[in-house]
Amino acid sequence: MFSVLKKAIGLTSATDAEPSTALVSESVNHRLQGQAKMHEKYPQVRSLAVNLMISPPDYETEPTLNGRSFGPDSLAFFEFRCKNVECTQGGFDITETVSDSIAKGERSINGRRVCHGMHGRSPRAHNTIRCNYELNFRININYVEN
Ligand SMILES: [Zn+2]
Repeated sequence: MFSVLKKAIGLTSATDAEPSTALVSESVNHRLQGQAKMHEKYPQVRSLAVNLMISPPDYETEPTLNGRSFGPDSLAFFEFRCKNVECTQGGFDITETVSDSIAKGERSINGRRVCHGMHGRSPRAHNTIRCNYELNFRININYVEN
């Protein structure tokens, strides 16, 4: 069940990744090495669960709900794509918030971000509209017991 979930959200466990490490190209390997794993970046964290709700600014369509679990071997990567299909250069990066909260030992974080991407691809600047999709997130953090 857990491995299925991890596959569904695009993360692979260490056991999945190890046999193929020698086969991946140098550039892919380099990129993967640039991303620290949870236990490397946050050794005090046992697990972390993220709940995301991404809503359009006009609330005309249903918000998108998303949940992700991070274990020790998950990549410590907290950037989420914007759900606006017409958004360019948007997205939500909450890496700093997560780092700060873990440093303070907080067990839950609530927050909100607004996407600063552009809606539409008009070459004329005055025709571009801010995406303004909104992310509301809640994060629960479990720490390693001492
Ligand atoms: Zn956006």
